[in-house]
Amino acid sequence: MKSRPIQQLSPSLVNRIAAGEVIERPASVVKELVENALDAGALNIVVEIEDGGRELIRVIDDGGGIPAAQLPLAFAEHATSKLDCDEDLFRISTMGFRGEALASIGSVSQARIISRTAESDAGYEILNRGGAISIPQASAANIGTTVEVRNLFFNTPARRKFLKGSSTESGHISEMLLRLALPYPQVRFTLSNNGKSVIELASSCEEERWLAAWPREFHEHRMMIESREAEVSLRGLIGAPELARPTGRYQYLYLNGRHIKDRFILHAAREAYRGLTEPGRFPAAILLLDLPPQDVDVNVHPTKVEVRFRDSARIHNLVMAVLRRKLLGSDLTPHAIAFGSSEDGVRQDMRTRLAGFFKQLPGSFSQEDGVLPAAPQPFFLPPAPLQMAIVPAPTPVVAPMVDSQPESLPPLRGSAAIQLHNSYLVVETIEGMIIIDQHALHERIMYEDLRKRLLRGPLESQRLLLPAIVTASPRQLSLLGQIQPVLQRLGIEIGEFGPGTIAVQSFPSFLERLDPVEFVRELLERGEQELLDLHEEELLHELLDMMACKAAVKAGDPLSQGEIEALLARRDLVDRASNCPHGRPTTLRLTLKELAKQFKRTGF
Ligand code: ADP
Ligand code: MG
Repeated sequence: MKSRPIQQLSPSLVNRIAAGEVIERPASVVKELVENALDAGALNIVVEIEDGGRELIRVIDDGGGIPAAQLPLAFAEHATSKLDCDEDLFRISTMGFRGEALASIGSVSQARIISRTAESDAGYEILNRGGAISIPQASAANIGTTVEVRNLFFNTPARRKFLKGSSTESGHISEMLLRLALPYPQVRFTLSNNGKSVIELASSCEEERWLAAWPREFHEHRMMIESREAEVSLRGLIGAPELARPTGRYQYLYLNGRHIKDRFILHAAREAYRGLTEPGRFPAAILLLDLPPQDVDVNVHPTKVEVRFRDSARIHNLVMAVLRRKLLGSDLTPHAIAFGSSEDGVRQDMRTRLAGFFKQLPGSFSQEDGVLPAAPQPFFLPPAPLQMAIVPAPTPVVAPMVDSQPESLPPLRGSAAIQLHNSYLVVETIEGMIIIDQHALHERIMYEDLRKRLLRGPLESQRLLLPAIVTASPRQLSLLGQIQPVLQRLGIEIGEFGPGTIAVQSFPSFLERLDPVEFVRELLERGEQELLDLHEEELLHELLDMMACKAAVKAGDPLSQGEIEALLARRDLVDRASNCPHGRPTTLRLTLKELAKQFKRTGF
């Protein structure tokens, strides 16, 4: 093949390539523009977007402004006012320093800067249309800077195509703005989408601003931390152990006013809660670290979310020690949090639910068979008092299960199954023995049951006497439209209730003993993190999974003989019973042959 000459890329192409690294979606534009406003000393930052930022992003600040003569430089690549000399790179104290954000944004959009400094009587504006930069022109303006970005990615169609719908993008923007705003309580931030206010953060004290990141129910279970060790300071809020969540949704970490991701430091926070929360849970924590700029390298990643500490072990130890000290010095008697249930409550709920579940079993198991013993056994505690009154909706009662094609499962023998470690069932079969993971099997049964019921229409649900109110972040609110139809099929009716709140109107009868608020909150959290881009059917599958998992017995739950038998009886009724919905096996088989081989009993 004939070789082609090496050519220098045109500046506009260089910028578009660079833009690919920092500008992923409208929220990245908001991040860069708001960081510039903060660097300019603004005390008021107004963000206006249209169509989730796909149409327009406008950031208005009252900061120092840009002198007219410098406007062209603002759009120029590698041009910054934030580094004076080479050494400054190693002691960064501003949010920006790479001098590439505006050039990148201008190269992939139709952008405009209008700015006026305090020294000037007039404002000036400059345009950048996909890299074509105009000459500054006089324009009416207040002191400060307004940057407008229209038609993001108009000239990079591949990127444009990957933008999500207006509500998803607007959700990303509100989460981004909230994250940026936490360390700057003195600054007022507002965000509106298509003229509708989404975020209003008045200038406030530190603590009040931090709390904006947590649901209201968390607030009274917070603990303030404040510690200084030589030139390193750590401040913020941590939540009582019972606020720990299945995801890291309520963890925020900052370094010198910049939001960062650092698994090592967040690991320190989790370590501090060891033994106080269930394993696998993420404590709620807002941590603000401040250390001398020369002790950290922020120039690791184009978007600067990852940093490198000179002495990361020291930071890790500090975070762990400060949090641990606070936790051990506090009265951690679990509180009955309005939205949650204490561990006992959860267990009790689960037991009652399970009792209800077994009641619906086909004839072979009835109360007399010991499934529902007359005398209370540990498993079947009397129902817990309802957290809120529930009136049944006038929907018909669910029909009995349809029969399914049983998979070929090893036939059981007469002898009784036993439960080991309150987690596994060991059962004799004709060909040998099987070991069953009780949670996995029950989850599978629940899942199949729910799936079959769904084929016949929406799940039966109950209307709550009083709607259950869940506080939600703007981003979670933006998810509503997408998940409502799916939830409807599952018997969950939710809707926006007021500013920052969602009301749960109906809840599936099947899950009646779960707290709707807790359930919906977890759903929204997972929604933000992993369910956002799923199609309706995938989403439905995920939610079924979640319900099945919640409704199933857990490892560690003691089962009565009757319950064990009932569980085993259902094993034949469900499809694919040998795997739980997550694909983990429910059952291990061990044949007599294999046993004989293991014991070297060759004679048999
Ligand atoms: P960086 O922030 O890394 O310096 P940018 O491309 O984001 O690079 O901005 C280039 C320069 O434009 C900044 O260094 C700053 O001098 C100026 N600038 C950008 N936005 C603003 C603003 N909102 N107010 C005042 N000056 C600004
Ligand atoms: Mg910048």
